[in-house]
Amino acid sequence: MSLHYPFGETPAPGELFQICAGVFWLRLPLPFQLDHINLWLLRDGDGWTLVDTGFPDEEGRTIWRSVLATLQGPLKRIIVTHFHPDHLGLADWLLQETGARLLMTSGEFLTAHAVWNEVGGHGARFMVEQFRQHGLDAERLEKFAQRGSGYRKAMPSLPDHYDRLKAGDSLTIDGRHWHTLIGHGHAPEHLALHCPELGLCISGDMLLPRISTNISVFAATPDADALGWYLASLTEMSVQLPAATLVLPSHGRPFTGVAARVTALQEHHRERLQALEASCASTPRAAAELLDVLFGRTLDTHQTMFAMGEAIAHLNHLHHAGRLLRHIDAAGIIRYTCSSPSSTAH
Ligand SMILES: [Zn+2]
Repeated sequence: MSLHYPFGETPAPGELFQICAGVFWLRLPLPFQLDHINLWLLRDGDGWTLVDTGFPDEEGRTIWRSVLATLQGPLKRIIVTHFHPDHLGLADWLLQETGARLLMTSGEFLTAHAVWNEVGGHGARFMVEQFRQHGLDAERLEKFAQRGSGYRKAMPSLPDHYDRLKAGDSLTIDGRHWHTLIGHGHAPEHLALHCPELGLCISGDMLLPRISTNISVFAATPDADALGWYLASLTEMSVQLPAATLVLPSHGRPFTGVAARVTALQEHHRERLQALEASCASTPRAAAELLDVLFGRTLDTHQTMFAMGEAIAHLNHLHHAGRLLRHIDAAGIIRYTCSSPSSTAH
């Protein structure tokens, strides 16, 4: 069983590409190595419901101005899958431009505000301390400290009110029911949507066809088993979504083959867990000392942030599974090992 991509082409920036009656694919550029995001416009009576908004730069706003000028009918609702800048970034601006309502989960809405304001254990200074505890060297910590909050720099403004979506909710869009599928591990309360009648799942970043979703442990929840949560969410998606479901992901192309993709992602993480476990077999290792095992290439500051989050998530998972022990040395550095030294094992 493998993935099938029913559409050979991808829409040009700002072009509306019809997936099926009333469902359109809109692709916006991103100023990163990951160079695009997919947004979804759903016919909704005499207007539209939009899922995700794009990155808040001038290019994104320019494309959106031309889309809004040609859209037949008002943008009535904006659903945001999670708080990351490429998804939530243009929400506040679009709300002001259109008068639409914003719908998202409270976990994502509140996390956006906590990260932006650097409170409650979120933000650069908490992350620097978390990475120090996981063995990152002073030089790279200094780069993170100098960089400050990338989120606040990226996001000019955030919406300050919303309609809350929860697990088990169902939205009616153009007379069809879309069920919420809440997932964890990539973001606190990531929202995907499933419409059984259309056989569609808007998966956000939880299920991507080519790249593996970044899994990170926040400084605010340092012992979280984010990878375990993510793997459980994948299993839940493979149970909930019928085999013929067409997945509309935030990055890459629409695809069918949920079960095959879930199996491949589970295998990918299983291999990485094994490699990390083997690396800690005889010597206690900190997350920062294991970036090579996971990535095997030089990482810039931005990539190091994702890599550290990913390494900590895998090590925490091995710890939660009882496969690695955690030790904290006199300098407060957390190391993981298979064997139990005489003191300070947790
Ligand atoms: Zn994301």
